[in-house]
Formats: sequence, C-alpha cells, structure tokens
Amino acid sequence: MKAERRAFLSQGLGAAALLALPRIVTAQPVAAGRPRAGRVRDVASYVLPWNCLFVRVRTEDGLTGWGECSPMSIPASRAFVEQELARLVVGADPFDAEPLWDRMLYDQYKAGPGGALAAAMAGIDIALWDLKAKALGLPLAKLLGGVYRDRVRVYGSVARGEGERAKSAAELARLAAAFAEQGFTAVKIRMQFRRRNVDPRPDPTFDVAREVRAAVGEKVDLMIDANNGYSVARAIATGRRLYEEWGVSVFEEPVAQHDYVGLASVVEALEIAVAAGEHEYNRWQFRDLITQGNADILNPDVIKVGGLTEAKKIAALAQAWEKPIVVHNTHPSLGTAASLHFVASLANGSHAQEYTGPREHENRVFKAPLRYADGHLALPTEPGLGLEVDEAELRRAIESSPQ
Ligand code: CA
Repeated sequence: MKAERRAFLSQGLGAAALLALPRIVTAQPVAAGRPRAGRVRDVASYVLPWNCLFVRVRTEDGLTGWGECSPMSIPASRAFVEQELARLVVGADPFDAEPLWDRMLYDQYKAGPGGALAAAMAGIDIALWDLKAKALGLPLAKLLGGVYRDRVRVYGSVARGEGERAKSAAELARLAAAFAEQGFTAVKIRMQFRRRNVDPRPDPTFDVAREVRAAVGEKVDLMIDANNGYSVARAIATGRRLYEEWGVSVFEEPVAQHDYVGLASVVEALEIAVAAGEHEYNRWQFRDLITQGNADILNPDVIKVGGLTEAKKIAALAQAWEKPIVVHNTHPSLGTAASLHFVASLANGSHAQEYTGPREHENRVFKAPLRYADGHLALPTEPGLGLEVDEAELRRAIESSPQ
C-alpha cells in the first residue's frame, strides 16, 4: 500500500502541485467586457527619507498600483524587489496575484520565507491588489471580500523608545492623553524591552501603567506591549498586576517571540487577553502561534506577511479558531491604508486597530490623506487603496533628502 501511495503522490497530485507552483497558465479565459489592466510592464521601488519603502507596479495600459514594504531592513528588501522579484512579475497579468505570490515565495524560499523577503513580497503584492481594484473601479475592500464596516476603530500606539531615548512615565502619559483628547477610545504603550533587556530591573511598566491610566481616565482602554521583554514567570506576575490594578485590557508579546510554549503558559495563567503575531510572516507560523502559543488576539502586519494575499489566509485561520485580528501597524501611510481595507473586509476585524497617528510631513506625498474622526479612520471610498501617491511630490521628497 505504501509503495502504491508513494507512486500516486509522485505521479499525480503531488508532482502536479509542485510543478504548478511557480508556473502561471498563459492562455486563460477572459470575460467579454472585462476592464483592461494589461500585463505588468515594470516594478520600481522608492526609499523615502523617513524610513519607508514604497513599491510601484505599472502595466502596459498605464495603470499603477502602490504598495509598502516593512522597513525592518530596507536595503535587503529593496534588493529583493529589484534584483529578484521584479523579473518574476514583469510580463504577468496583475489579476494573477495569488499564483504570483507563490512564484515569488518559491523562487526565493531559501532566502526566506520571512523577514526581508516577506516584506519585499508585501510591497509588490499590495501594489498588485491596488492595481486590480483600480482597474475594476472599486475600493480595495470590495475586492477582498466586501465591507463589514466603513470606518475602523483605531487605538493610539505610543512607543516608549529604547536605551537613553526611552521616555519617562510622565512623557508617555502626556502622549497617551493627547490621543484621548483627539477622541481615541484606546491607547497602547509599547515598552520596547525586547530580548536585549529581559526582565528589566527596575521595571518601569507599573509606573507607566499608573500614570497613563491617571492621564486617560477609566473610559479609555489601556494596553501594554512588553515587546518580548519578560520570562514566563515575570510575564505572569506582571500581567496579573496590570489587569488587577490598572484594568489593562491587552498584554502584548509578553515573552520571546519564538517561545510558543512559554506564551501558552502565560495565556493559560492570565485573565487578561494576550496578543501576539507581529513576528509571524505566513500562514504556517500563524498556525503554530495559534495551536502552540494560543494567543487570544492575533497581530499580523500586512506589510510584513507578504501582503494582502497571505493576510487573508491568516485571517481565515484566525476565524476558524475564533480569534480576532488586530493588525500590527506602525506605519501611517500605505501600510495603514492596506490595513484599513483588510480589516474592513473581516468579520473578525471589529477590535480597535493599531495606529500611530498621522505624520504631516509624510502625508505630503499623497494627493489626500486618510480621514480620521472620533477614534476611527474612514475606509477610503476611492478605487484601490484610496491613498493616491503624488509622484511629483514623492520625487521631490526623495531628492531633497540627504542620502
Ligand atoms: Ca507590538
């Protein structure tokens, strides 16, 4: 039986699936009257002077789509985009975004599958989705499955900073209060301990929770992100006190990002909701985070997980385990626009989503900024991402920066 099964796999489905992964069928049915996009003509990348990497995909018919890559390592991601991935996409139909995603991953998988490669793929993948939605004249969320909500509740995400630049509890309280005054109904403080400063002594977290709670009042949800900075025992003790004394509602990344066994122990011990997922890059890592780490809330980042094609799969996994999606999103531009369309199209996307607030100097490269009001960002209604890059301004911004 075993030999028969092996023969079946090697000659049948198994072999066919492997062969089909990087190849794209060229002769395809095309419905009459389908909007034309043309084939991909070129892929270009742009490094902005504020730690930002954009990707533009253009077609023969003159349509453009824009995406963003996570800026974890801009030189590495840019090299992937320009030197490896662009050639896999040029000449293809942008409506083949999913087989193109496979083609990019499996061509380069030995250099990945996470990190800078996944970030580079995200830039191209989001640009393809933007382009497809523009060709159809639809807001991107419609193409992702439809609109559950036309505005997305967002929380104010405040970074403490690291080392000598770390902000005091009083400074963090002021920043959190500024979000609350603008109508935000939830705030999060990112403690940014990371694995360089595990179980810090003295630990500023309790002072921060006390001062921020006093500054924002009882009605604003308060979340604390340990950024992987605790051992399991300290995470449990810390999470318990944050919940009991200051009503902290979410405790994010309490332990090392690779320690799913430890994370599961923390989740089991605490009543407070535990969030994780900004260090997972694909459906397989999220499967393990769910089944082994059992995080209560999942934090995929669309500009890290290879874009919207993979983010949709991660959201489906989360739905099967009844876990809400709360995007990781520390970039207030194209990444935020892609996140908005993503969560607007999810049944399990109703939680407040991460947002670091607008940065005026960055908005100048867009024809119109995203619209914020009363603790929510409006889902753009224009075709595509709805955050249109002004290429002349983009060029000016790049040329005026010291490189
Ligand atoms: Ca985080």
